[in-house]
Amino acid sequence: MIVIKFGGTSVANADRIKDVAKIISDKLKQEKNIGSVFSAFSGVTDKLILMSQRAARKDETYRSDFDKIRLQHLNVAADLGLKRNKELHVFIEESFLQLHDIVHGVFLVRELSSRTLDFISGFGELLSAKIIAEYFQSAGIKSFFVDARSVIKTDETFGSAKVDFRMTNKNIVQLFKRNNGVACITGFISSTQKNETTTLGRGGSDYTAAIFGAALKADEIEIWTDVDGVMTADPRKVKKAFTIPDMTYIEAMEMSHFGAKVIHPPTILPALQKEIPLRIKNTFNPTGAGTIISTKPSGKDYMIKGISSIDQISLLTIKGSGMVGVSGISGRLFSALSTSQINVIMITQGSSEHSISFAIKPDDAIKAKKAIEAAFNLEMKARMIDAVDVEENLSIVAVIGENMKNT
Ligand code: ADP
Ligand code: ASP
Ligand code: MG
Repeated sequence: MIVIKFGGTSVANADRIKDVAKIISDKLKQEKNIGSVFSAFSGVTDKLILMSQRAARKDETYRSDFDKIRLQHLNVAADLGLKRNKELHVFIEESFLQLHDIVHGVFLVRELSSRTLDFISGFGELLSAKIIAEYFQSAGIKSFFVDARSVIKTDETFGSAKVDFRMTNKNIVQLFKRNNGVACITGFISSTQKNETTTLGRGGSDYTAAIFGAALKADEIEIWTDVDGVMTADPRKVKKAFTIPDMTYIEAMEMSHFGAKVIHPPTILPALQKEIPLRIKNTFNPTGAGTIISTKPSGKDYMIKGISSIDQISLLTIKGSGMVGVSGISGRLFSALSTSQINVIMITQGSSEHSISFAIKPDDAIKAKKAIEAAFNLEMKARMIDAVDVEENLSIVAVIGENMKNT
């Protein structure tokens, strides 16, 4: 059993989808069971979000966005020779009727909650996976469509939902007992206990593949994208970047957490826990070796594996004489941040214990400053801790490689 995921550019149009069908057909020569996970067609999620934001601003041009998105899907279906597929057309038109109603609602009430946005942005994956499933059938690949909302269960953190693995794993195993053929699974989307649509965060289709792969104890999870694997640096920023043949889960986790978009960060954990190799491959170069991520790399082990970076970082610092030698300050600091649901990207503490600095997303900076001021109100009044220092417009550059330790 393998689980194989194709990103937006890998399913951008009919020709690309035909290439994907060829990759799957070749795999079927060795594998009996394949779970395939699809992103929305290239650019569709961005377009859905932009359309919703326009509607919420009472901008009438949302209607032409809507028409363009609908036409894009009808055209891909037609280019795949599916014009006469009644079931598919009913599916597409019903989806767009639903989408129209909800976006029109956003336009009328001028309100776009994260709950509504998740519902809207999930349409891209529903449509792509369904169209591809129908194409596979027409091309003689036995397949079945999976709306992942029926199996991946999450909490209500819309926009970046947390998975309930106990329920999800059980649902996935059941689903695969009942069906056979190539599963065509919607990436990115999931649902709450009350069956409301949630999403797994931008780029979340990689995570969908890992969730299915781990639940099914797959032999391998493959992420097919538009570059030759994980590279030594972001190829858009560093022309000389080259593909890393193999790396450990920990190295891959660090690379992705520090900005390498090629893997959505939470993807690594389910694979690591079940020790399932993760392979990153290029749909535009299927014979390329790609990158294999596992417990122990087999090839030549470089001291430094790669460099990644995150732009748009805010660095907050608290310092003051009242912090030296006092226990519990960092505990209180990070509890305050955690209570306000602020994700900390990086932490440093001066060896004198005189200051603690941490990096967060700029959107969280004001909230974080307020949370700290509330938590250390007394110390600040007594001038034992200074005002919180906020530095904006910074970047983090991370140099990654497990072999750097002790060197
Ligand atoms: P997909 O749509 O297939 O999920 P993404 O755009 O999410 O693809 O991720 C692939 C992109 O990630 C590449 O096109 C590349 O520009 C970018 N990227 C950033 N850092 C790296 C890196 N270290 N290695 C490879 N790709 C990277
Ligand atoms: N379509 C979603 C996004 O653009 C998920 C994904 O592509 O992985 O974020
Ligand atoms: Mg991606």
